Amino acid sequence: MPFRDVLGQDLALETIRRGLARGRLHHALLFVGPEGVGKELTAFGLACAVTCEREPGEGCGTCPTCHRVLTVSSEGARVPLHPDVVVVERGLYGKEILGRSTDEKTDISVDQVRRVVLEKINFAPHEARERIVIVRHAEEMSAGAANALLKTLEEPPGHTRFVLLTSRPGELLSTIRSRTQPIRFALLRDEVVEKILLARGVEPSLARQSAELAGGSVEVADALADPSQSEERTQAVEALRRASQGPLHEALEITSSYGNSGEDRRLLAGHLAALQTSEAIELRKLVLAGARGGAEGADAARDDARIDAALARFATARAVEATLDRNANVPLALESGWLKLRRST
Ligand SMILES: [Zn+2]
Repeated sequence: MPFRDVLGQDLALETIRRGLARGRLHHALLFVGPEGVGKELTAFGLACAVTCEREPGEGCGTCPTCHRVLTVSSEGARVPLHPDVVVVERGLYGKEILGRSTDEKTDISVDQVRRVVLEKINFAPHEARERIVIVRHAEEMSAGAANALLKTLEEPPGHTRFVLLTSRPGELLSTIRSRTQPIRFALLRDEVVEKILLARGVEPSLARQSAELAGGSVEVADALADPSQSEERTQAVEALRRASQGPLHEALEITSSYGNSGEDRRLLAGHLAALQTSEAIELRKLVLAGARGGAEGADAARDDARIDAALARFATARAVEATLDRNANVPLALESGWLKLRRST
């Protein structure tokens, strides 16, 4: 999507456009901001801007070059068709590229940085004036991967530009942070989220309601506006919630339904993320109701208790997710988290 189609991030776009126009845009940018607010769209907008021949510096979004920047391959790794737009992401490439012993269950491996970035970087771009490397969830780079990238970030070949995307800048090595220029992406205003949903064909009243509850993230709003897509997740989220109340044997049954395979790890991480989103929405509903001069007396006390419980579940889900990142045993991490939660609420 070219710059002009990115909504609600005027400050970030202005910095980038101005830098490009003066030929002084930092060669390694760090896009920082919550999930679902346009960081990735802007990164691909920049990729169009530096490759497009019809509107250099801006990107038209429709010429054959832009089209290949914005279209992913239907075979093999799901990467842009344009050979000068390189994407780095945990689990994106198969063993035929990374080598058989590489495991990317928990992080972006040093092998990916070597094979996909470093081995190509000293060659000139295939077609465009510049090559652009986009790193999704840059905080997921292993220490080895980040260190392997450092020298190149510091002194990249003139024809290569880096864009690192992250919603958790605190988890990046400080050396990575200090070698990149941060560009901040704010949460979107509700009207902007609503406009984006409407453009995607969501029915107006549902678009409005989802935007109001999404807290500025199109990703959250999308999930809210399409409940059918998330049926399995909804059930998993409900089960995790039940495991924090109800009888103990039921709680243990639910938590032990997750095994310790990589697949279970990803499944549980997805469910925990969905639970956090769902609790965040619940909190926003309660706070909005309170701000509208909501309940009094016993009802207000009940709402306060619901806020406390939602906050506790949110914090527990976040904590267990973090231990999964550190490669903990899946059933144990979940069980101990949920037992602690039961004692605290
Ligand atoms: Zn174009």
